[in-house]
Amino acid sequence: MKLVLLGAAGSGKGTLAKKITRDFGIPQLSMGDIFRDIAKSGSELGLLVQKYMSSGALVPDQTTFEVLKERLFQDDCKKGYILDGFPRTLDQAKLLAKVTDVDAVVSVELPFEELEKRLVSRRNCPNCGEIDNTEYEGYTGKCRKCQTPLFQRDDDKPEAIKARLEVYKKNITPLINFYGDKVFTVSSAGSPDETYRPVKTFLEKLGAK
Ligand code: AMP
Repeated sequence: MKLVLLGAAGSGKGTLAKKITRDFGIPQLSMGDIFRDIAKSGSELGLLVQKYMSSGALVPDQTTFEVLKERLFQDDCKKGYILDGFPRTLDQAKLLAKVTDVDAVVSVELPFEELEKRLVSRRNCPNCGEIDNTEYEGYTGKCRKCQTPLFQRDDDKPEAIKARLEVYKKNITPLINFYGDKVFTVSSAGSPDETYRPVKTFLEKLGAK
C-alpha cells in the first residue's frame, strides 16, 4: 500500500501516520523529519535545507524529490509506505508519478484558525519524536513517553507559521484535483482517535490488511 497524506502543518497528519504504521506495518516517510536530519548534518545540502525550513518556505521541488527518491527504494519500503509531507506541490506529485503510482490519498482537514492555534502551542520531544501541546490536558513540558523536556520548533513560531500555511493554501487544490477519486477526506477537529477511525475503515476496505 502506497499512501499519500495531505494536510497542513498542525493538521495532525504526522500523528495519523504513526497510527497507520502501527496497524498496517508500513513505514512513515516524513519529508519534514528527513529534512530536519539533513539540516542537522551540517552538510552543504543541510545548510541549504535549513535556510528554507527556518523561513517556512518549501525546499525546491527537484532537490526534495531527489532526497525522497533515495528513501523510497530502501528495503523497508518494499511493502509500501506512507508519504507524510510529500508531495506538497503539483510538480512534486508529477515527479512522483514518473517513478510510482500511489494507491490512495488521505487529506486531513482543519480550519486555518485552528491550525494556527495548534501550531503555536505544539511542542516536540527531541529524543523520541513524540508530539504534545501546551493546551492538552496533563501537559507538563516533559515527554509523556520518555520524560525528556520538550521544545518548540523554530518554524512553529508565528512568522514561519503564517508562511507555511500560505504555501499550503496555494498548493492544496491542484494536488486534490491531480489525485481525483483516490482522495479520502477526513476532518481532524476531534481527537486523534476520532480522526483515525474512518481512515482505518477506508484503508481496510482498500485491502491494506
Ligand atoms: P514539516 O515538518 O512537514 O512541517 O516540514 C518542515 C519543513 O520542511 C517545511 O516547512 C519545508 O521547509 C520542508 N519540507 C517538508 N516537506 C517538503 C516538501 N514536500 N517540499 C519542500 N519542502 C518540504
